[in-house]
Amino acid sequence: MDGKKHGDDEVLRKLLGGELSLSGLSTFLEDEMESSRIRRLYLEKKYGIKFQNIISTSIDHEDAGKRNIENMIGATQRPLGFVEAKINGEHISGTKPIFMSTTEGRLVAGVSRGLKAINGGGGATTTIIDDKMTRSIIIETSGARESKHIMSFVKSDEGFKFIKTEFSHHTKHGELLGIDCYTTGRNLFIVYRARTGAAMGMNMVTIASNNTTAKLIGRLNEDRKGQKAFEKELEKSSMIATKKVLRVLSESGNLCIDKKPAMKNVLLGRGISIIAEAVIPRDVVKNTLKSDPESMAKINYVKNYMGSGLAGSLAHNAQVANILNAAFDAYGQDVAQIVDGVNAFDDVAVTDEGNLYVSIYMPALEVGTYGGGTARETPKELLIASGVYGEGDSQGKTKYMLAELIATACLAGEVNLLAAESSGELTKAHASIRRG
Ligand code: NAP
Repeated sequence: MDGKKHGDDEVLRKLLGGELSLSGLSTFLEDEMESSRIRRLYLEKKYGIKFQNIISTSIDHEDAGKRNIENMIGATQRPLGFVEAKINGEHISGTKPIFMSTTEGRLVAGVSRGLKAINGGGGATTTIIDDKMTRSIIIETSGARESKHIMSFVKSDEGFKFIKTEFSHHTKHGELLGIDCYTTGRNLFIVYRARTGAAMGMNMVTIASNNTTAKLIGRLNEDRKGQKAFEKELEKSSMIATKKVLRVLSESGNLCIDKKPAMKNVLLGRGISIIAEAVIPRDVVKNTLKSDPESMAKINYVKNYMGSGLAGSLAHNAQVANILNAAFDAYGQDVAQIVDGVNAFDDVAVTDEGNLYVSIYMPALEVGTYGGGTARETPKELLIASGVYGEGDSQGKTKYMLAELIATACLAGEVNLLAAESSGELTKAHASIRRG
């Protein structure tokens, strides 16, 4: 048994016989690396699957098993590349590498060409418009009258002070900015809006919001007791759904709204709302992009506004999802939030001097430089390499820097693709790579 407490055969027998669960394996063996190996043996025994490539990884199994994943059996890898961007940002300036992990051939080359043009015009200017993370919670009330009553309490100075103080007890880095309420009658949605330091903040705001709501409900239920005026109000409104006590119906009410395409995030923003813009001289457009400002402006209008409009899309851009996918994977972001980030708007115009103006408005770029997947080995290395790892950054400056890097890469992707389409080069570029 090589000094091990349990032999492989014994553990496998327990797993296959149902005496030990896959989820209970780590606790049983007290060793995540060993558990990972046994799970692979389990898959081999049960399904005849043998692995070669998922085994070798620099990931600390013990830590990942506690933070990031269950039933771990190894790790996946993607090719990693980089591009170089000149940025005139609010928080980051100069020429910087941006890391991209992808399997889409020509993506890094395309962003590089877009950046060559942008850099040739002096670089991209990035501007942070807003920063907040949201979580909505549904409280079930007796009906619209009571929902309205709670909404006015929550919005009052006294109510908001109570909620803000309570919220601050459950997070050090989260700062509550405001509360928004919506009701459909007996369903009351309370949306918490907060700054989250260097973290993307979804767990942070969820935890603080739920603890705060529990306190709020406790107080409201206390207030309800023996309130004759309130009981009369309920009678007057001929309630059919009087509840004995208020309760949380859902800890996440989708009005936040996270990882689902939504006009709310487009209009009000979520995570970081950012604009990247650039002016590219006409000769650079001609020589580097093989296009001209007029053709690119026309393609942008017809493709990104008429085409996307006819399709009913919220995304008025060419390929933001590609760049987000590559950057989110490299920098350890929650890739599911690409759903929200992808709803971005391109503006392409000819300046009075005949040059090209391009911008991208990204209302919901949900990123973080601390927490979530950022502590994993390769994302952390790349965040540090970019000078944006968020440890010790309580104000979120590194998060803004990362957003400025990613928005610049997105702008470059748009510039390149619009130019390629306006000059009929898109298919040619993709046909030139090795496929299959
Ligand atoms: P997190 O890793 O859950 O939390 C960040 C933690 O870091 C907080 O506990 C915070 O403590 C602490 N912290 C220390 N230094 C900090 C600094 N400089 N700035 C900010 N926080 C600092 O990360 P998260 O961003 O809140 O959540 C991201 C994770 O949520 C991802 O794994 C994502 O996949 C997941 N997610 C969760 C939900 C959900 O519904 N819960 C939804 C989508 C995604 P304090 O709070 O005490 O300040």
